[in-house]
Amino acid sequence: MIVYGSRASTMSQVIHENLPCNHCETRDQHRMTIFGKYAHIFWIPLFPIGRAAVDECGNCKKTIEKSEFNTAILDAYQQQLADTKRPIWHWIGLILVGGFFILSSIIGGIASATYEPEPREILLNEQIELLTKTPDEADTLTTKLQSFLNIMVVEEMKPQDFKYRIALDDFKALVLVKIPRLNMLDEAVYPELLETVETVLTSQKDLESKDLYIGIRGRSSMEMAKTPADTRYGSGCERLLYEFFGIEDQSVPVE
Ligand SMILES: [Zn+2]
Repeated sequence: MIVYGSRASTMSQVIHENLPCNHCETRDQHRMTIFGKYAHIFWIPLFPIGRAAVDECGNCKKTIEKSEFNTAILDAYQQQLADTKRPIWHWIGLILVGGFFILSSIIGGIASATYEPEPREILLNEQIELLTKTPDEADTLTTKLQSFLNIMVVEEMKPQDFKYRIALDDFKALVLVKIPRLNMLDEAVYPELLETVETVLTSQKDLESKDLYIGIRGRSSMEMAKTPADTRYGSGCERLLYEFFGIEDQSVPVE
């Protein structure tokens, strides 16, 4: 629930001598109070939204609003108003919001100026582009992984829609699987799924002596990543796979 509305605070209060009162028809001191109204959200002032004034007769104690002021009282009001300043805190919400936007655009500017695509991210994206439903039959490794998963995965997951990409170098293998209906699965079974893929792969002779880098994607992003040293799930986990292309910036071409 958002709490908002308007509030008022006293900006000035002055005793004016010898003013005529319309009610008791005598001259006496009058106490004039000028209020500043402001819009607030959750009681934090946002910006000013006008003024109000109240005059109290020292004799009959009758209080009147600005619309009822006689000429003499109105003059006193105008004089007092000239010396009345609105406190800066009536603007505090707008100042904070403005400051926040200025600051975030500065930070955003700095961030975008210093962002350079990580070379290994580009290399990984190139591999992701190569994911395919119909691997070349000569690519026995991918074909085997596909036929295993076709058998092991339940029909509802539509294993025929899975896409695959395996890249190798002398010491490492990058294995990517895209599962369009991954969101059907409870995340609790992700480790099991990852293990299934890994088990299929480690049983292959070609991969026996290689370090495995496994990435499993859902429809649009990497959801699981496993390297010899680490396993991660969820957004950003694909960074783990960068290591396949080299440590830090030393990117290594892949066959
Ligand atoms: Zn009076």
